[in-house]
Amino acid sequence: MLSTRYLEGQVALVTGASRGLGRAIAQELAAQGASIAAVARSADALAATLESVRAAGGTAEAFPVDVADSAAVDAMVDQANTRFGKIDILVNNAGITRDGLLMRMKTEDWDTVINTNLKGAFHFTRPVGRLMVKQRAGRIVNISSVVGLMGNAGQANYAASKAGLIGFSKSVAREFASRGITCNVVCPGFIETDMTKGLGEELQKKLLEKIPLQRLGQPDDIAGVVAFLCSPAASYITGQIITVDGGMVM
Ligand code: NAP
Repeated sequence: MLSTRYLEGQVALVTGASRGLGRAIAQELAAQGASIAAVARSADALAATLESVRAAGGTAEAFPVDVADSAAVDAMVDQANTRFGKIDILVNNAGITRDGLLMRMKTEDWDTVINTNLKGAFHFTRPVGRLMVKQRAGRIVNISSVVGLMGNAGQANYAASKAGLIGFSKSVAREFASRGITCNVVCPGFIETDMTKGLGEELQKKLLEKIPLQRLGQPDDIAGVVAFLCSPAASYITGQIITVDGGMVM
């Protein structure tokens, strides 16, 4: 059984925390007692996340940085570590899409997606991993996608980045296991956020036909699973992929 506020006293760094899944994850980890280092490019956009965490009695600070910028990430992790004294939980959630059919895909769109979604996770896991190895404890959760498992026409760059995250996470899980650090992957299906808004009614209807639970996901559906993976109840789980998609991929 999980006690309430099972993350009391812990520090969680969440990337892509300014909206969507990242904001919901930050709110849920804070509700369980963790202090939040909230990351996104825009400090203004992070303000709403800080406000909601603080309004619920939690602690959160904004650390604006581009996850694709390795040197800036190193400096930022240093700042967060100085501010909070440690980092117990890392959630690599920042992600973007630049969709297009492969034969017309610009190299720039390939690079931007890989540099943000995949390289961004590497940029954070390296310095945060060093801190976790020293403290011989830590939880890393990487947000991939069902598209990383199945592929998707028009999303070769995105699917490659998300499939890459899975291989990356399993390697990190093996490398860090002896130091008491777990690394797992959450693969969301179709969740209602800015990333997915603007799909036409027709496409939504088609999607719903493929989802056994017959609804689109909400950010809280993902946040609860991430929090579980950071909880004491998940201490014997590492290198795993948990698909949260209403049963779309079985
Ligand atoms: P979203 O609403 O578009 O939010 C993306 C977040 O990432 C924002 O906070 C954004 O903040 C941040 N971000 C983007 N590029 C960044 C960069 N270079 N550096 C730092 N932060 C950056 O997306 P979402 O739907 O919440 O998705 C979150 C994660 O879940 C993504 O990895 C996505 O691929 C994955 N996912 C989502 C779904 C879904 O259905 N929504 C399904 C499967 C997987 P700034 O723009 O301010 O930087």
